[in-house]
Formats: sequence, C-alpha cells, structure tokens
Amino acid sequence: MDADPGPTEKKGQPGLVSAALSGLCPRCRARTLFSAPAALADECRACGLDLRALERGGRFVGIVTMLLALALIMAALGADEWLRPPLWASFLFWGPVTVGSVIFALRFYKTMWVYHQYEERQP
Ligand SMILES: [Zn+2]
Repeated sequence: MDADPGPTEKKGQPGLVSAALSGLCPRCRARTLFSAPAALADECRACGLDLRALERGGRFVGIVTMLLALALIMAALGADEWLRPPLWASFLFWGPVTVGSVIFALRFYKTMWVYHQYEERQP
C-alpha cells in the first residue's frame, strides 16, 4: 500500500515513542540504546556511537522521575480516599503502574535527550 507516511514524521526517522519503546540507536537504528529497562548503554553495540557522551547534561532525568512518581503517589492516595479499596488491591494496582510509568518516562526522556544531542552534533 502506498499510504501517506504522515506529515509529522521526518524522512527516515522513527517516531520518538517507538524509538523509546524499542531503544533504537539514533545513528544506526539498532536496538542498542538501553542496557537495562531504564538505563542507557555506554555505547551502541552495533555502530559504537558514544551514548554516554550524548547523555551528559541530561540531569533533569531524576527530577522528571521524582515528579512523576510523586504525581502517581498523590493519585493513588486520592483514589484510596474515594474508593477505599483493600490495601492489597492498592499495592497490586499501583505498584506495577508506578514502576511501569517511571520506567517508560525515563526511557522516553532519555531517548528524547539523546536524539536531541545527536542531532545537534550533526554537521
Ligand atoms: Zn548505533
């Protein structure tokens, strides 16, 4: 099918969300960006791109994560006030939701940062 590729996507660039989810290297598009669910690899295993150098300066990552965790805890407390679910149900629901959101936020933020840094360094 010759579908319209969409006006927002740059040519040859994967969307930032899919790049964050699959951890695509900004240079070679290999799935090498993350060595752990939310930790950047030191360098790309496929093309040797120095990811640690690109990550330098991304020090708001921790603040973003803290704010997100705080917002989720507030939401959890708010939900408890309204619904008064049993404690085990709260933990069962909010545990994975919090962990999942924080990991995704970190991945997304780091990917965004690395891609931004990578593009800035292009001649
Ligand atoms: Zn690479």
